[in-house]
Amino acid sequence: MIKESELHPENANFRETVPAGEYFLKVVKAGETVRILDLEGNQAADTLFYNAHNPTERYSAVDTIREQGNVYLTAGSKLMSSENNVMLEITADTCGRHDTLGGACAAESNTTRYALEKKCMHACRDSWLVAVTEHEELGMTKRDITHNINFFMNVPVTADGGLTFADGISDAGKYVELRAEMDVLVMISNCPQLNNPCNAYNPTPIEVLVWS
Ligand SMILES: [Zn+2]
Repeated sequence: MIKESELHPENANFRETVPAGEYFLKVVKAGETVRILDLEGNQAADTLFYNAHNPTERYSAVDTIREQGNVYLTAGSKLMSSENNVMLEITADTCGRHDTLGGACAAESNTTRYALEKKCMHACRDSWLVAVTEHEELGMTKRDITHNINFFMNVPVTADGGLTFADGISDAGKYVELRAEMDVLVMISNCPQLNNPCNAYNPTPIEVLVWS
């Protein structure tokens, strides 16, 4: 569902550009709004959310899908935690639909899906592992890297229940905006994938904005 934001970028309290292949890590407080902006179009922003005070409570795709009765995320979607609490609500969305079924790219999946020589290509899972390794204060490890959201990524579910990675439906300047309902640690891998059309074979930067 397309829903425009009423917030203006010039009033944002925080803005940061995240190059493809890099991670983004920030606590967004309850009541604050975070926007993820697809600067050049057709990018995938692989995102994990955690309770900022207790990272064992984290975004849960299965609880979110069950509660809203739909597999796609868009404006109005409430993102549920593993404790069945609302973590964030999508309050604006100019892309229209986001995936939470396809999972994140990893050395392992790149190898099995594409070719053995793809094993050493940089992947989202590596970016998250770098994030938790460079931020020991979070007390998080590999076991905290769980199921994610792929903002802007198009993974249509076919009539017979199949999943396909299709060409993106996002475009330059499209964004998704979420209001935090609890203090949330946002961890994004701006996807470096080169083997499937999730980012048009051309990974590009995103921008993250926060309004208090
Ligand atoms: Zn990826």
